[in-house]
Parts: sequence; C-alpha cells; structure tokens
Amino acid sequence: MVRAVVGANWGDEGKGKITDMLSENADIIVRFQGGANAGHTIVNNYGKFALHTLPSGVFYGHTTSIIGNGVALNIPVLFNEIKSITDKGVPMPKILVSDRAQIVMSYHILFDQYEEERLGKNSFGSTKSGIAPFYSDKYAKIGFQVSELFDNEGLMDKVKRICETKNVMIEHLYHKPVLNPQDVYNELMEYKDMVEPYVCDVSEYLYSAIKDGKEILLEGQLGSLKDPDHGIYPMVTSSSTLAAYGAIGAGIPPYEIKKIITVCKAYSSAVGSGAFVSEIFGEEADELRRRGGDGGEYGATTGRPRRMGWFDCVASKYGCRIQGTTDVAFTVLDVLGYLDEIPVCTGYEIDGKLTTDFPTTVKLEKAKPVFEVLPGWKTDIRGIKNYEDLPENCRKYIEFVEKQIGFPITMISNGPGRDDIIYR
Ligand code: GDP
Repeated sequence: MVRAVVGANWGDEGKGKITDMLSENADIIVRFQGGANAGHTIVNNYGKFALHTLPSGVFYGHTTSIIGNGVALNIPVLFNEIKSITDKGVPMPKILVSDRAQIVMSYHILFDQYEEERLGKNSFGSTKSGIAPFYSDKYAKIGFQVSELFDNEGLMDKVKRICETKNVMIEHLYHKPVLNPQDVYNELMEYKDMVEPYVCDVSEYLYSAIKDGKEILLEGQLGSLKDPDHGIYPMVTSSSTLAAYGAIGAGIPPYEIKKIITVCKAYSSAVGSGAFVSEIFGEEADELRRRGGDGGEYGATTGRPRRMGWFDCVASKYGCRIQGTTDVAFTVLDVLGYLDEIPVCTGYEIDGKLTTDFPTTVKLEKAKPVFEVLPGWKTDIRGIKNYEDLPENCRKYIEFVEKQIGFPITMISNGPGRDDIIYR
C-alpha cells in the first residue's frame, strides 16, 4: 500500500517525526518534491538529526530511501547528509536516486542569492538554496537530469548553451562574475562520480514494489499553503507540496495512494514572508516560540526564528481538504500545556464579512482573525498513551479542532520521540 505523509499548513508540522514513526512498518520511503531548502528534525535512539534531502526513514536498517524525480537534488548536500548520519553510528542506508531527478547546480544557489539581494526589502525570504532558479530551469527545459550526466556526447554543448543565457543575466542584471562552461562541466562530472552508485529507474522499481505488496511512504516537504497552485502564491515554494504530486514526483499511478496522512500542528508557525492571519507577536509569540517543537521554533535549515500564531481552523480545514486527507496527525500538542487559555482562529473577517473558507492571496492579505478561546489543561501530557487518559480540556481542544476542520484526527503526537503518539 502507498501512503503519503504531507503537511496541512506552512511546513514544520512535524512530518519528519510522523514519517520516521511510520517507517517502522514501511519498506520504502520516497521524497517526491522540494529540495534542501526545508528540513525535518528527527529525534531517535541515535540522537537528534536535521535532514534536508534524505527521507526520514533512513534510520531503519530495513527500509530503502528514494529520491524521486520530483526532487531538486543537491548532490553535495545529499552526500554530507549521508556522512552526518553514518558518522553518528547510523548504518549506511540503502539509497536510490531517480535517473530522472534534476540537479541543483551551484549557479542556482548563486542566482537565488543574487535575486534576493536585488529585491531587497521585497524579497521572498528564500532560504537561498537555489530552489526557485532550479525549478524555473526545469520548466524552461534547461535543467540537467541525472541521466544526462552519462551522456558524454551532448553534455558539453548543452553546458555552453546554458552558460550563454545565464551569463546575460549575470552580467547585465546582477553585475556578478560570469560562468565558465568548463567549470560547470567539471561540477557535473564531480556529481556524476558521487551519484553513480545510486542511480535507478525509480518508477520501474516502485511499479514492481507495488505489485509485490510493499509498504511505501511518500514524504512531502512543507505544506499545503506553500503549494504553488493552491497555496499563498507568490509566497510559496516552487514545487507542489500536495499528496497528488506524490504520484508524479515518485512516478506511480495516482490511484495507488490509498492513505493521505496530513500532519497538522496544534498551533501555527511559518517561515518566510506572506499573509499569516492568526500570527501573534511580542512576549506571547516569544514564549510559544521558545517552548515550541523540540527546543524551540527555529528553522531546521537556517536557524531563523519562525513566525508564530494560534491554531488556524480556516487555513487547516483548507490545507487538509486540498491534500485529500484521509487521516490527520495532530502534532506538538504537549507544547500548549503551559497556557491557561488557548485562542483558536475559527474564522476570517474580510471586508466586514465573516468566512471560514480560505481565500486567494489578495483577499487573504485583508483577512482579520476571529478567535474563540478554549480553556487550557495546564499539565504535561507527554508520556500519555491512551486518548481517554488525556485531560478533559485537552480532549475538548482536539475535538473542537476536528469538528472545525472536518477531517478525522486519528493520531495525536505528544512529544518529539517515536513513541510519543496516541492512536484514536
Ligand atoms: P517537519 O518539517 O514537518 O518535519 O517539521 P520539523 O522538523 O520542523 O518538526 C517540528 C519540530 O517539532 C521538530 O523539532 C520535532 O522534533 C518536533 N516535534 C514533532 N512532533 C512533536 C510533538 O508532538 N511534540 C513536541 N514537543 N515536539 C515535536
């Protein structure tokens, strides 16, 4: 069976922990989109890890980890990540890289930096990992597929052609040093040596795996609201964050995705610019940020403080719907145990009208949050294993959210560890 683990919100919902946990009973874990711009933080018996490119199943000996064709593959980052986990005693994971994945080049990272620099205060708050320039090139058909590394004949010509176009921008828009085709070619040859042992026809591999009844997890990066089509465009990422794209970014039939587990955090956080209706500020936000996640809400890739807010039912209802959710995993609930009262955003007021439907960006910018305040439970719920053992106000919070978003919360995460989970 194929299951997808995806995010309902702006990312950082705790997908890594849920994937790591579900990987125990999985054979194959596939990354299907995104790049090294976001990270998953995983805590397990080997220690604490920040993964950017490797799927969150790499810690188990029995799983195969796959980088699908939809991923923005940064080969040096992949290799450093493999090294960082094996250095800490994790056995060398079995890794396959799609021959159709495209490669993040060092100039993509430079273009990302140059563009953010040029935009100044209007910048997107990019992590400058080259993701937007990478996907632009992919769709402009001037990217490099892993398979092309093995094409000795056409490669240098293509490199020269691309450098010509890129250098016009570098020289006249950014006023930076131009690309030398030989350097770009050498970079590709370095990547070829690094990636060769892992290259695989992934869609063929997964086709057989599905036929053999293997358990497959598709692991999404970021969340619904960062999807380029259905998110808060233009403050979105450059590849689709939706479970539906899992079929494309892994190369499997869409009807094989039987379960869509949408991870939804018990409060909100976001990185980068863009409308964030239930956002909070000042001491209230600082305290939630300090207590949030596992050791504070700071970016796994950049270390930047995340923007904080109360749970947003409007955004989460939409986020779950657009994913095609079958199950909601409600995470980081333990963090809210310090609050006397917990505000929840249940509606948006836009031009004097109340709505519970998530709007397009222009209207979203005008939305004001409408809050309902629920009583807190004022205890530490970590370690609790049964739903009935949760404090009454905590169950009420979960049931309130479930009713507002309209999708079943079947898992509750009450701590960062693998075992901190309550099934319902
Ligand atoms: P991802 O990108 O969706 O995987 O999210 P992150 O890596 O940003 O995960 C959020 C953070 O919360 C990580 O530091 C996790 O270890 C932590 N985390 C996940 N689930 C829980 C939970 O239920 N409780 C607490 N306290 N922390 C959690």
